[in-house]
Amino acid sequence: MTAPHAASDDRTREIAEALTSVQERIAAATEGAGLAQPPTLVVVTKNFPASDVVRVADLGVRDVGENKAQELEAKFTDLVDLGVRSGLTVHFIGQLQTNKAGVVAAHADVVHAVDRAKLASALDRRRAMTGLGRLRVLLQVSLDGDPRRGGVLPDQVGELADDVAGLAHLEVAGVMAVAPLGEDPDVAFERLREVSQSLQCDHPGATWISAGMSGDLEAAIRHGATHLRVGTAILGTRPSLR
Ligand SMILES: *Cc1c(COP(=O)(O)O)cnc(C)c1O
Repeated sequence: MTAPHAASDDRTREIAEALTSVQERIAAATEGAGLAQPPTLVVVTKNFPASDVVRVADLGVRDVGENKAQELEAKFTDLVDLGVRSGLTVHFIGQLQTNKAGVVAAHADVVHAVDRAKLASALDRRRAMTGLGRLRVLLQVSLDGDPRRGGVLPDQVGELADDVAGLAHLEVAGVMAVAPLGEDPDVAFERLREVSQSLQCDHPGATWISAGMSGDLEAAIRHGATHLRVGTAILGTRPSLR
């Protein structure tokens, strides 16, 4: 696999332009909310090739997100070969089956969608085997109460956080959510902020709030998001995987 010629091909220029306009949206919303610092932008590279991850890394992006264990493993082996893995923080943002925990524990730096104790203990066990430091985890909160979309109910976040905090190779970094379809994202993300505040009473280090995607990042910023997960607005419509 060869590295793309950064800044010299059409694809790189296209990504650079889209990245700039997303950064402008973030800057405007940050200012509008009266915040000193913009949230961290996680560029969601799922379904796009490793060459695009190299392009965003060359454009200064430091955080990327993936949502499938198999794709994460394949792509990040390529990124190690291309020499860009060590400069990136890799976020795993998808639903995760317990039997794929090993891949994610070995290749990700942050896991955003931990919603059950069994998954947390599988990640803990597999992280221990890697010799890497603690894996940061965010607890996925279900804002619509529909368990099929993943996430723990708001009133069960505290109990799950206590379970995760008892594991030696994980660190509870905060909460994550996806705004329910058809609901006003401002209402949803305000609820997430309340969940985060009550979590921080017992777990003061759990300050991260992962919320906001291409369509609703402004609402997420208004309600205290520390991490945005943006794919389509930067990389375009996702190709389906072969
Ligand atoms: C794909 C994905 C995103 C990115 O969504 P876009 O609308 O493409 O910005 C964010 N969060 C999660 C959990 C995702 O799976």
